[in-house]
Amino acid sequence: MSRFVTRFAPSPTGRLHKGHAFSALTAFRAAQDAGGRFLLRIEDIDPTRCKPEFEDGIYEDLRWLGLDWEEPVRRQSDHLDDYAVAVETLRQRDLVYRCFRTRKEILDGIGHAPHGITDAARPGPHPADEEAELLQSGKPFAWRLSLDRAHDTIGGAAWDALSFFEEGHGPDGETGRIRARPELAGDVVLARKDAGAAYHLACVHDDALQGISHVIRGLDLFEATPIQRLIQTLFGWEEPVYRHHRLMTDANGKRFAKRDGSVTLAALREGGVSADAVRAEVLLQMDL
Ligand code: GLU
Repeated sequence: MSRFVTRFAPSPTGRLHKGHAFSALTAFRAAQDAGGRFLLRIEDIDPTRCKPEFEDGIYEDLRWLGLDWEEPVRRQSDHLDDYAVAVETLRQRDLVYRCFRTRKEILDGIGHAPHGITDAARPGPHPADEEAELLQSGKPFAWRLSLDRAHDTIGGAAWDALSFFEEGHGPDGETGRIRARPELAGDVVLARKDAGAAYHLACVHDDALQGISHVIRGLDLFEATPIQRLIQTLFGWEEPVYRHHRLMTDANGKRFAKRDGSVTLAALREGGVSADAVRAEVLLQMDL
């Protein structure tokens, strides 16, 4: 049995559009071609944006496209305890710190920080007395990864050697073994104030747990890879191969995006478009 395992990991924050069909079909076909496994994972840890009806829509739309996947599907909101355990492990290793700042406070900090965005993205721990006071006041906080501590923990040589293997390509055509520079991401949030978990940690936790050998996803997530490689390294999790794919575009060369109100697969279906027609359009743009 091939150990090729890949996944499609949508967030149920809206109905799927052709860009999602492209991504799901790319991963599904790759698994078929490799005689491997295809998993569907629901990344629903954002309580403000994820909705059960959008999750139902994902199953409906993917089935309509002719995809099938292994059951049970992992729904991240069912596993918040797992991510909390992972954050606690990092806390014990002094790799994360509490951050009570609001998004606005951090953005405002960009103007005042000596190195602008680079410093503001690494706000650092609060002074001990201030933290104690904030904790006492019951103000919510996020856990942020300390890049300084991560650097000291793995050591300068391992930090400089951090890399990932790209079988697809980055936005500038990057391919092959690529140096990962997690410092560009800053002290990312690993546990949100409102959810106790956050994307980067939940994603790499599950990729490791599910034995994902190939992370196949859109180019828009290429920039997420360096920090995800660092998190994997801190936990000693296995390194998957990455295959970022181009983003499907419409007739005007514009990419499909939820926020631009792209036509959804559900609307196309209701308008009488067949799954075959959508698949054919998707296949035309696929890097074969
Ligand atoms: N849930 C993420 C999204 O919908 C995808 C995560 C990934 O493929 O790594 O953008």
